[in-house]
Amino acid sequence: MDLPTLWYLTVGTSLVAAAMTLWERKAHAQRSRPLGIWAAGYVAFAIGCLLAMRREAFPGITGPALTNIVMVLGYLLVLQGVRCLDERVRIGRCAAVLIVLAAAWAIGGEEFPVFFWTYVGSLPIAAICGLTALVLLRSRAVKPLRSRPIAVGVFVCHSLFYLLRATVAPVLVTTYGESLLPVLAKVTMYEAVLFMMAMPMALLALIREEYQAQLLADSRTDFLTGLRNRQGFFEHGARALRDGAAQRPVSLLAFDLDHFKAINDRYGHDAGDAVLRLFAAVSRDIAGADGVIGRLGGEEFAILLPGQDSLAASRIGETVAREFAERAARSDGLHMTATVSIGLAEARSNATALAELLSAADLALYKAKALGRNRIQIAGENGVSEAA
Ligand code: GH3
Ligand code: MG
Ligand code: MG
Repeated sequence: MDLPTLWYLTVGTSLVAAAMTLWERKAHAQRSRPLGIWAAGYVAFAIGCLLAMRREAFPGITGPALTNIVMVLGYLLVLQGVRCLDERVRIGRCAAVLIVLAAAWAIGGEEFPVFFWTYVGSLPIAAICGLTALVLLRSRAVKPLRSRPIAVGVFVCHSLFYLLRATVAPVLVTTYGESLLPVLAKVTMYEAVLFMMAMPMALLALIREEYQAQLLADSRTDFLTGLRNRQGFFEHGARALRDGAAQRPVSLLAFDLDHFKAINDRYGHDAGDAVLRLFAAVSRDIAGADGVIGRLGGEEFAILLPGQDSLAASRIGETVAREFAERAARSDGLHMTATVSIGLAEARSNATALAELLSAADLALYKAKALGRNRIQIAGENGVSEAA
């Protein structure tokens, strides 16, 4: 494989990566900034490669210096794209790095052109890629993603390769002679082709995975209240029930707002929505950190309470009902009477499934409705207490 082929391959992969990344921007509007910055970085790599191939045509050290500066600009853009997954980009620092690099070439490049081109120019690349790996490791956005180790690994490998190029290669060339230089150039470009395939793929994988995780979370969230929807409640609740097997007792409160259709009819659908949001807010405030809250449908909600027996859970249910009624009565936009009926069930054994617990609580809720609403009914008990 000759060197020009490898250079052309790198130009090609860089441009393809830029085009694919720009295309991906359409699908991920929330990540259009990093994707745009990365695409600009890949274009810089392509320009850098073309400059490198024609570097002899420039006077003095201008060709190699310009190539190195444009390449480093590409790496800086990739770093800034990664950085802006969590925070703002730092254009000032990038400009400072490029100015220092240009000054280094102006001062030492003329005197040691081969040394600068072959070794010194690798140092900023090694440093920037090492930093990119570190930023990826620390990134909050990237932390939960499966592809994180791949992305970090790609930058660590590239950084180590350029570090070796700047430190071990000069020793090897001094020992074995300058005939090693063309081999070194080919190995460098071969690695560059691999890097230009692996790096954009790894970065795109991060963005796609993040988006998938967001979609998955959305599909388990109720749009109106921000609570878990039925599916989210069942998935998370079943997990809480399983994981907290040792943490018994466990209770479940099933809520159904009273005469909610009448609220809609009298005050309008928007007011009805506001009442649902109010109930969600009250539940969040009262349920505690361990409580798993869900909107199971229309005006029906549930709270799973790990670690709470029926006595403690009934107090929580009563507090929710009281607070809901009070806030609905005094809230600026509402000023209405709103009540809720509650069914409560406590898990009888460690093996009680969530669906079983919910149907017991539902049965109790049905009784609370039949007995006149605005009350809490405990499954398996005949006694009824006024909720609010
Ligand atoms: P009950 O006391 O027996 O529970 O009577 P209810 O009127 O609360 O129960 P019903 O099942 O007859 O009516 C529930 C109503 O909830 C009907 C539906 O229009 C309304 N609803 C369901 N989802 C929404 C929503 O997202 N927003 C609004 N505003 N209303 C909703
Ligand atoms: Mg209902
Ligand atoms: Mg109802």
